[in-house]
Amino acid sequence: MAYQALYRKYRPQRFGDVIGQDHVTLTLAREVQQGRLVHAYLFAGPRGTGKTTTARIIAKVLNCPDLGPDGEPCNLCASCLAITEGSSLDVIELDAASHNKVEDVREIRANVGTVASTGGAHRVYILDEAHMLSRAAANALLKTLEEPPEHAFFVLATTEPYKLPDTIRSRAQRFDFRPIGAETLIAYLGDIAGRERYQAAPDGLALIARHARGSLRDALGLLEQVAALGGGKVDGRGVTRALGLAPSDAFSRLARAIAEHDAPGALALAASLAAEGADLRRFVADSIEFFRGIFLTRYAPKLEEIVDEPADVISGWRAEAKALEPGDVLRALEVLGEALAALRDGREERLVVELALLRLARPETSIDPASLGSRLERLEDRVRRMGEGSAPPPVVPAPEPRRAARVTAPEPAAAPAAAPTGVPAAPEPSVKAPRRTARKAAPEAAPSLPALDTPDTPPAETPPAAEPSGAGAGAALAPPPGLDLAAVETIWPALVERVRRDAGPRRHALFRACRPAAVEGSRMILEVPATLPFHLAQLAEDREFGGIVGRIASSLLCGAVTVAYRPGDGEEDSGPAATPMVIPDKDLLAEGDPVSSDPTAVALEMFGGEVVPPTSPGR
Ligand SMILES: [Zn+2]
Repeated sequence: MAYQALYRKYRPQRFGDVIGQDHVTLTLAREVQQGRLVHAYLFAGPRGTGKTTTARIIAKVLNCPDLGPDGEPCNLCASCLAITEGSSLDVIELDAASHNKVEDVREIRANVGTVASTGGAHRVYILDEAHMLSRAAANALLKTLEEPPEHAFFVLATTEPYKLPDTIRSRAQRFDFRPIGAETLIAYLGDIAGRERYQAAPDGLALIARHARGSLRDALGLLEQVAALGGGKVDGRGVTRALGLAPSDAFSRLARAIAEHDAPGALALAASLAAEGADLRRFVADSIEFFRGIFLTRYAPKLEEIVDEPADVISGWRAEAKALEPGDVLRALEVLGEALAALRDGREERLVVELALLRLARPETSIDPASLGSRLERLEDRVRRMGEGSAPPPVVPAPEPRRAARVTAPEPAAAPAAAPTGVPAAPEPSVKAPRRTARKAAPEAAPSLPALDTPDTPPAETPPAAEPSGAGAGAALAPPPGLDLAAVETIWPALVERVRRDAGPRRHALFRACRPAAVEGSRMILEVPATLPFHLAQLAEDREFGGIVGRIASSLLCGAVTVAYRPGDGEEDSGPAATPMVIPDKDLLAEGDPVSSDPTAVALEMFGGEVVPPTSPGR
């Protein structure tokens, strides 16, 4: 007997055997019992969910002389058997993707006009991917649908029903086929595996169900593929190998690298995935699913009701969500989405994945490959030197290639200007920004990796959290020589832009209210309009953000710069850099985590853009 794909071999032949679409098949069986089948059906739904299969069963019940009382075909008569074998003249299946022209539909109409195969037979036209019909073809079809001959029935199947003209949709009775739930798929796969005498383990079937994403056809295809590769064995490892999946701990490794700003760990992950032959594109797609799950755990307390995932997957998301900041999760979704698009464009897979993971592990890292390369080199260099046991030498500020040109090149290592009062001259270098939640295994290990570019400098108004004087102080940058207000104003637009990118829209919104006002030694003084005292308070208290601004400014000015805020005297600046102030105060007052508790900020994080006050017309 010729080999038959599982999907064909087990294709349901009765309404009751169609998996996971009871809302459709029960209704159809009732219509059969009542003799109320209509001449045109529209079956909408994802691929592999049973649309064509159900259409064929309709053809059977229309032609079966021995219908059951339950509205099911007998599957024994000549007509039923012919339809099962695909040799019936009463079922005409057309793929609209390749028969989308008006001539094709005219042919159908001519065919409709011919007499059915035997007296009293009903002919069923199954038009797959019906949304692919050209407009002219759809119009021609509409004429037939408006006055169908007594013996002609149509089933239009489509994955994209909204693309069909309204006139056609309104002529047909519509049924929506749903993606098949994981539990249903797993049970069905177990049943089929038993009949095929596969040795199937639950973890293997669960993995297949996840990756079939609601499609029965895909699930059976995967089952077949894994069983063929494993000699009938279907377990988690076999599925992982057959599909080129990343090992199950890869996603938590990625999450940890992001939470701990562990760039070497992220690169090691990319290397091990490549070495294991994982399908990198699938890894990126699965990572997006993973971070989407983590994202949802924050906003959907009853996650079990809205996602179709096994309980252990959901509890895994919840555990990871505790260690990651909401901003990190959103950024991961954004960066991985871009990476996936780049992979679809055929860019070099490993490079794309490495860059994406690096961007995630080092948020301040520019996406500019040149500066990435130089940063990596510096990192490797330092790690190597530390391995040799010597303290890292003072780092000459490594300007970023693009931006350095805008600023006067620094004199080599000028003596630091007198440290402004209250500001540590050589602040603690740290590779990690302060984290609200961190999985730091060993805090004392922090100084072993000095900052890549600039020290993490708290603003003057707030005392630094910890002050291990001397530890790694040699790695600090010297203040930029001859720093003046003009230099700060030159880099100001770039600074604001990088704050937007690196610190999130909420902080950017606050920060845009500032203007550079003065320079004292290596400290830039930013003025916040006196009309915005709340902004001033927020900025002055946000020590982590002060460090971010200092770091960005230091990299743009090629030397260690700190930042301090003071109230200005004037109105809100109406200049281009200070466009309307955006966040309402009540949002800023929100307690708890500012991003997760502020829907505006969340929306801004997700979609970008800005909030325009309602009083500002014509924008
Ligand atoms: Zn029959």
